[in-house]
Amino acid sequence: MSFQKFELHEKILAGVQMLGYQKPTPIQLQAIPLVTEGRDLMGLAQTGTGKTAAFVLPILQRFMEKPLGRIRALIIAPTRELSEQTHEAIKQLGHKTKLRSAAVYGGVSIHNQINRLRGNVEIISACPGRLLDHIERGTIDLSHVEVLVLDEADHMFDMGFLPDVRKIVKHLPKKRQTLLFSATMPDDVKSLAMDLLQNPVTIQIGHTAPVMTVAHRFYPVQMGIKTALLKDILEKTEMESVLVFTRTKSRAKSLAMQLDKSGHKVISLHGNLTQQKRKQALDGFRDGRYEIMVATDIAARGIDVTRISHVINYDMPSTADAYTHRIGRTGRASKTGDAFTFVTGDDLALAHSLKRILGEKLQYHNVAGLTSEIQKSSSKNNSPDMKSRNQRRPFARPAQTRRKPKQRSFGNTNRSSWSHRAPSAA
Ligand code: AMP
Repeated sequence: MSFQKFELHEKILAGVQMLGYQKPTPIQLQAIPLVTEGRDLMGLAQTGTGKTAAFVLPILQRFMEKPLGRIRALIIAPTRELSEQTHEAIKQLGHKTKLRSAAVYGGVSIHNQINRLRGNVEIISACPGRLLDHIERGTIDLSHVEVLVLDEADHMFDMGFLPDVRKIVKHLPKKRQTLLFSATMPDDVKSLAMDLLQNPVTIQIGHTAPVMTVAHRFYPVQMGIKTALLKDILEKTEMESVLVFTRTKSRAKSLAMQLDKSGHKVISLHGNLTQQKRKQALDGFRDGRYEIMVATDIAARGIDVTRISHVINYDMPSTADAYTHRIGRTGRASKTGDAFTFVTGDDLALAHSLKRILGEKLQYHNVAGLTSEIQKSSSKNNSPDMKSRNQRRPFARPAQTRRKPKQRSFGNTNRSSWSHRAPSAA
C-alpha cells in the first residue's frame, strides 16, 4: 500500500516523496486514517516506528485549506532534541505547503522565539518548561489550538513534566483532538490519558521477536577501540557478507573509508546518498562486489539481502526493537547468522535488557587486548535525556554464572523492559 491511499494533498505527498518514504510504516497505516477522521488516539509505539509522520501528515492535511497565522496544532515533547526533530519533520513533510512550524524549548533566546510566535506559525513543537514560560508572559496564543499531541508521554512522566502538561492543557480549547504517544503506559500516563482523551482509539505497534536462528554476541569495548576490534573480527572470522551498523551518517561514511584503506571491499549506505548511489551500493552488496556494507538504521530499512552472514552493531541501536530489526537482516529464510554488538559504557541499560530478553542465546565475548570491562559513561552533556542516560547503573558482569535469566517476550511492553531507568539485575 502506498501513501496515495490516504488521499493526502499533493503538496503533502511531495514532502513524503522528498523524504523517500515508499510505503507507510505499520503505525502510519493504522494512525493516519484515524487521525484524519478526527478521532482521539492513544498510540503505544516507540521512536523509530515512524510515529512522527503518523501524526504530522494528517495535521498538515487538516490545515491545508485553513487561514494562516494562528497556532492550530501543539505538539509537546520531553526533550529539545525531540522538539527540534519533530519541527524538522514538519518542515520537510510540509515544505511545499504554506504551513509553518516553530520549535519552542529552553536554553536558547526567548526573544527570537517571541518574534517567531507573533502570527507567523500554525504548528508548535514545544517542551513543557519553555512553553509555560511563554504562556505566563502572554507571548503565545493557544486559544485556537485544534490538535494537541503529547509525544513520548512516558518519558515526560519520567522527567516530572506531567504537572506542567496539565497546566498547559488548561490554556487550550476544550473542543480539540488529542493524540498521546507512549512506549509504555505507567499509571500516571494512563490517568493523564483518561483525563485528556475523549473516547480514544488505542493502537499498538507490537514488538517482534528477534530471529531465533541468529547467534548473539556482545563485545564489551571502549569507544576508541571499536574500529580496531572490528578490523580484528573481520580478519579472523569467516564471513560471507557483513552488514555493519553505525548510529550516524558521518560515522557510516568515515568507518567505510577506514575499512577501505585497510583493503576491505566495503561500501556505505546512508541518508545523504542520492537514490542512484543508494541503488548502486545495494546492488554491489547484493551481487558480492562489496563484502561489507556500513549503514545507518534508516538506510538499512527494507534491505533484503539473503546472504548476509553477519550483522555487526558497531554502535548499539537505540531500542530493543531496533536491535530486532537490525539483526533481522541476517539469519533470513531459516539460515543461521551471527549478530555481534559492541557495548560501551553508554549502552548498559539496553545491553542489560537485551540480555534478559535473549537469555542464554546471548553470550559475551572477549578478545585479548581489545575488549575490556566497561564503566558507566561520564558524559558531560546535560540535556535532559542525557541526564537520564547517566543515571544508569554500572555494568553488571556477563551472566554466565548467574541465576538463569528469565526469558521475556518482545510483546511485553512492561515498563521495566523499556524504561530509561536501570533495569534490575538479571
Ligand atoms: P520516528 O519514529 O517518527 O522518529 O521515525 C523514525 C525514522 O523513520 C525517521 O528518520 C523518519 O524519517 C523515518 N520514516 C518515517 N516514516 C517512514 C516511512 N514510511 N518510510 C521510511 N522511513 C520512514
